[in-house]
Amino acid sequence: MRVTTAFNKMLDLPGAWVASVEFAEDGLVLGLGRRRARPVCPCGRRGTGSYDRSVRRWRHLDWGRSKVWLQAQVRRLDCRACGRVRTEQVPWARPRARHSRDFEDVVAWLAQHTDKSTISTLLRSSWETVDGIIARVVGEQIDSARLAGLVRIGVDEVSYRKGHRFLTVVADHDQGGRVVWAGEGRNAQVLEGFYDQLGQAGCARLQAISLDLGGAYQKATNTKVPHVRQCADPFHVIKLANEAIDKTRRVAWNQARQTPPVKRARGRPRKDAPAPARDQSRWVKHTRWALVKDPDQLKPSQLEVLHELRRSNSVLYRCWQLKEGLRDLYRLADPTDAPTHLHWWLAWACRCRIPRVRTLAKTIRANRERILAAVELGLSNSKLEGINSKIRLINHRGYGHHSAAALIAMIYLCCGGITVQLPTETRSARDLAG
Ligand SMILES: [Zn+2]
Repeated sequence: MRVTTAFNKMLDLPGAWVASVEFAEDGLVLGLGRRRARPVCPCGRRGTGSYDRSVRRWRHLDWGRSKVWLQAQVRRLDCRACGRVRTEQVPWARPRARHSRDFEDVVAWLAQHTDKSTISTLLRSSWETVDGIIARVVGEQIDSARLAGLVRIGVDEVSYRKGHRFLTVVADHDQGGRVVWAGEGRNAQVLEGFYDQLGQAGCARLQAISLDLGGAYQKATNTKVPHVRQCADPFHVIKLANEAIDKTRRVAWNQARQTPPVKRARGRPRKDAPAPARDQSRWVKHTRWALVKDPDQLKPSQLEVLHELRRSNSVLYRCWQLKEGLRDLYRLADPTDAPTHLHWWLAWACRCRIPRVRTLAKTIRANRERILAAVELGLSNSKLEGINSKIRLINHRGYGHHSAAALIAMIYLCCGGITVQLPTETRSARDLAG
């Protein structure tokens, strides 16, 4: 068998055949012959003649230890549709790419599964190259119709760069919470930008949106899509309740600190001496998890803490009862009971004389309609919270350090419903079909 035939069989490149094989200083160079006589513009139009031609190289997947380069003549054509001279589209690489399609697909597949430095070491490419490839693959693979059929969406902010920067992420509730849009920043303008991109028809189709209790997204929604039903995300409501508990706990801790612990006498205590008094402020400090965690998931020691708070009729125990009372709103067997339940809870919270809880009650009252809408429609951003932790992971893997654009491309790649097929997968599918 001739060596070119062997490479032809192994590479199985679309629209080209291996005409020559040579070893250069930087690896194996495979000269390609072309099957198609007339050049094709990236816009899809077939040209009649070529404007000029030049030789170009694309990096392909490594062969053993050596790098592999595909080398072919590319033509430029004067495209009448585009109105300018453009480089022809070759079937084995994406437009403007300096890597073959197979190479880029492997990078994108790896980016969905592992960290950036692993990819860059394994494939001997710089971080910038990896970023560029991800952006290109996402640009080609992302469903351009994803914004067309939106009816119920969720909006939330996610932080990156250790909580110093923010993105606004929009997810589609009806598509399993997949990310359909992400923008840099977390103010009203960012979300307004999304509504603008959605267009008039898209905005008119929207029915419900779940969001946090902050003012920014609410403002953008009020001005751009006033007809949409706004739902306060349950997660954010309970988070607010937990914050109220936390602040009350801090007050209790400060009070406990005012009374100094009993000093122990010098020397070894006698055998029949009473057990030393515990440090009350320290104990209060460590009640946190018992108070904020889901009661079904408490450890025995945390249950004991809760029990003790109840026995001592602590203000923290009343706080905890109020929080669980609020959580019950989302556990009602019949959601039509929600208005009555919330009414009862608000009356209870206003009577309780715990300053932080009364502040909480004010916020809840102000958002009453939106909270009830969330219960009625059963909308929550819980899937977005999952996306949040996924984005933190992406960030951690080294994709979020440089620019928001690179991070957004990665979010689309990992949370936007894109499936990247490895070259080996597509080949075996083709073999089966053939
Ligand atoms: Zn064109």
